[in-house]
Amino acid sequence: MGQENITQKRSSGGGGPGGGLPTTTANGGRGRSSTLLPRGRQLHKTFNNIKITILCGFVTILVLRGTIGIGNLGSSGDDAMNQNIIEETNRILAEIRSDSDPSDPVNEPESFFSVNDTFALGPKISTWDQDRKTWLDQNPEFPNHINGKPRILLVTGSPPKPCDNPIGDHYLLKAIKNKIDYCRLHGIEIVYNLAHLDKELAGYWAKLPLLRRLMLSHPEVEWIWWMDSDALFTDMVFEIPLSKYDNYNLVVHGYPDLMFEQKSWIALNTGSFLFRNCQWSLDLLDDWAPMGPKGPVREEAGKILTANLKGRPAFEADDQSALIYLLLSKKDRWMDKVFLENSYYLHGYWAGLVDRYEEMIEKYHPGLGDERWPFVTHFVGCKPCGSYGDYPVERCLSSMERAFNFADNQVLKLYGFRHRGLLSPKIKRIRNETVAPLEVVDQFDIRRHPVQGSSKSQS
Ligand code: UDP
Ligand code: MN
Repeated sequence: MGQENITQKRSSGGGGPGGGLPTTTANGGRGRSSTLLPRGRQLHKTFNNIKITILCGFVTILVLRGTIGIGNLGSSGDDAMNQNIIEETNRILAEIRSDSDPSDPVNEPESFFSVNDTFALGPKISTWDQDRKTWLDQNPEFPNHINGKPRILLVTGSPPKPCDNPIGDHYLLKAIKNKIDYCRLHGIEIVYNLAHLDKELAGYWAKLPLLRRLMLSHPEVEWIWWMDSDALFTDMVFEIPLSKYDNYNLVVHGYPDLMFEQKSWIALNTGSFLFRNCQWSLDLLDDWAPMGPKGPVREEAGKILTANLKGRPAFEADDQSALIYLLLSKKDRWMDKVFLENSYYLHGYWAGLVDRYEEMIEKYHPGLGDERWPFVTHFVGCKPCGSYGDYPVERCLSSMERAFNFADNQVLKLYGFRHRGLLSPKIKRIRNETVAPLEVVDQFDIRRHPVQGSSKSQS
């Protein structure tokens, strides 16, 4: 390569339209070089210029593909493939939602229950306490207490079908990740249910047959703890003060004055509650269930509930109103074993809490469980998996994102990270890696510092 080529490139590089593009260099050079160079070298040079031009063409195409996108340059193959994937996904979703299973005979009668029976969760069981005790004695490898603590099973679940909107499934995933984290850190077993064990009790009533079934199938479990899918742990350190409930069989977040003075339909909340595995609990479930069967029974029961509970809108019977009504109307039968808890947030209503996280971070610390650092934040009325909630969907989703990240920061802290902000899925490092990790491991381990039944004086 001669000196002139370099000079040409240099001189043409800065001038004329096209700036540094080599095509301009080649054109500009050719005009001058034809008068100055011998024929052989000229041919060689022309050939070189063509090569450069082709190369530049390639580069230009590559740059355009990168900036504009493949599809826009006329590559319809990828478009078609994407379209196919979308269509196939929609077809599968429609199939799952439609219940169409050719191998499932339609209208096959239920062989286990007689249609003439009044509704029941199952055959009447009356000797559970004794039967369970015998079983525990015979199976010492499955004790109902471990290291002095009662065995707890946390139960949650969601509808069998995909959510109406894919974002709902994303938040179900985040909600179960949050619960798995809490349970792992506190030695609690967890069940996720997607089935309707009793087709009469679909929707919010699905928890009743499920709780009964799990009590009977897991005699080793002492407490069964139901938590809605739309409830998140927001205090990863706090632990339920179980010894406080030694003489009780049902623990539910609630307020006695709202219950017995006002007969309010929000006197308690069934988004998070605990049942002791015993005969009393089976009996209460039996007494709670009859308003649940879908159709006319649930519709008529809804009218009774609306007529009797303060503030209740007119709609079909829901499990929460039915429990309040049952405890009000048969107070003497049930209330002496029911603990209405409100000294910490076994259930916390999200709307008053999610906007205060920055203040909580500034003033308090996890382990308190009450309004200073709420144990559970429940997105009542948001229906992230359904279509019609009581609140604007954007507000619900950003609030759920904040609650999730607020909680996740407490988990990530164990590993030396935190979210960049409460609305950010991105994380950043908060500690340097060390060559002696075991020296700091205890310092960040929640399992070694649980705050049992924290009281306000501990802040
Ligand atoms: N649920 C279920 N299966 C269903 C529908 C609902 O397990 O088919 C559960 C789910 O965990 C949900 C809870 O029932 O969170 C209660 O419903 P939701 O949270 O929508 O009621 P809300 O708390 O808003 O009154
Ligand atoms: Mn809920």
